[in-house]
Amino acid sequence: MLLCAAATAASARGQATEVLCGMRTGDAAATLRVAAGGDPLAASAVDVGEGFEVRAVALSGAGDADLVDRAVVTVLDRADASRRVVLSQSRLPTAGREALDSQAAWRPNLSGWQRVYSPALGRELAWGCALVLKGSTPANWDRVDATDIDDSQAPAGQKAARTGSATVRLAWMGDVMLADGPGRSIARGRDPFAAVMTVMKAADLRIANLECVIATGGTRVAKPWTFRAHPRVLAVLRRHVDVVSLANNHSGDFGPAAFAQMLGRLERAGLPYFGGGADLRVAHRPAIIERQGLRIALLGYNEMFPRLFEAGPGSPGIAWADEEQIVADIRAARAEADVVIPYMHWGQEHSETAHARQRALARLMIRAGADAVVGTHPHVRQDTELIDGKPVIYSLGNFVFDGFSDADNNTGSILWMTVTAQGVSDWHLQSVHIDPSGAPQIDRADAARPARQIAVNQSASDPPAAGDSR
Ligand SMILES: [Zn+2]
Repeated sequence: MLLCAAATAASARGQATEVLCGMRTGDAAATLRVAAGGDPLAASAVDVGEGFEVRAVALSGAGDADLVDRAVVTVLDRADASRRVVLSQSRLPTAGREALDSQAAWRPNLSGWQRVYSPALGRELAWGCALVLKGSTPANWDRVDATDIDDSQAPAGQKAARTGSATVRLAWMGDVMLADGPGRSIARGRDPFAAVMTVMKAADLRIANLECVIATGGTRVAKPWTFRAHPRVLAVLRRHVDVVSLANNHSGDFGPAAFAQMLGRLERAGLPYFGGGADLRVAHRPAIIERQGLRIALLGYNEMFPRLFEAGPGSPGIAWADEEQIVADIRAARAEADVVIPYMHWGQEHSETAHARQRALARLMIRAGADAVVGTHPHVRQDTELIDGKPVIYSLGNFVFDGFSDADNNTGSILWMTVTAQGVSDWHLQSVHIDPSGAPQIDRADAARPARQIAVNQSASDPPAAGDSR
């Protein structure tokens, strides 16, 4: 799905439209004609590949409307029959009617191809939805390949031409959650970042994933964990962090009004953000930070449900990890920046190894022109990989976060990364231990060792970086 305007006002051309979804896993495929409805769990199910079940409803614009405006797709993993897990919910803006007029060049225009990975099944389901004229099936529907994203135009030549001698040191933090324990610390005048402040000052640019909303008010979304921090945390955050990603499964915990309030507060505090914004277009725009003349583009994407937090053409929210959109965003960022790095919110919680979906998406991003890929969300650190010589650090783990009792959840990494006009020249991981109040402490044994510089031409089969092994 390329950035698209909201469904244009329902035109009066006569023929009604509907949503068609195609699903594939392995050799199995199925098609679902989406009915109007309100509850995606109450819709009739389509089984795909003995393990996945898909239900979908069309929301606004459903029924006799000329143009369907929104659909919700719910994918369930049936590997465990006693426990059905909602893996993904989607709110999908349509591309508008004009796409219907060019059947010759037809491809799924509504959602792009989405993927859900089942750790239990060890495979993924891909689905793509499209707006079609009611009752019709596009002629080439069954030839559409779920892996047809074109990555043949990676701008390698453009990279070789990059010049300049600036050397910029980035420090990446994992998940920073400033509600609950850390929020209470700040209310009592303490600073959860205090123990790492001296170390972090060596960085030219400090980047964090802000895993909460900072607002007053809003409406709590019905989900197991919700995090809302008091606006007093902003001064502390601004002191230690130069730019934040909003692309995660908690920035929308108190609805779009609280999210929008946070955007205003960040702007007034002079704290740039990425991976979210006032609308879909802004959410997919990189934060471009300049240091020593080097332009660094940061993009952020979430793929942990609910997708309800996604920005719409006219509504605030986060950027979703839609593959076609990511490729387009990275290529666009390449044209305006020297260095392009996506910060992902992905992966299986508490799993120390990245799964196949993360690896495939990382490869896609590197081939599209990313200089590195950094990730977080699983609450533990995950492995690292080199793809075409570019580092992929799948998860940095928690950074400021309380409420965990296991040691691996209370261990995180600072990712030190040196970038030049040629991309990432070296990187290493430095361990932190998180105390019961959620505050990171420097691992003294780790700090005593000389910082390990890892050349990016290290073989992908080499052992993971020093700070990454336990
Ligand atoms: Zn998360």
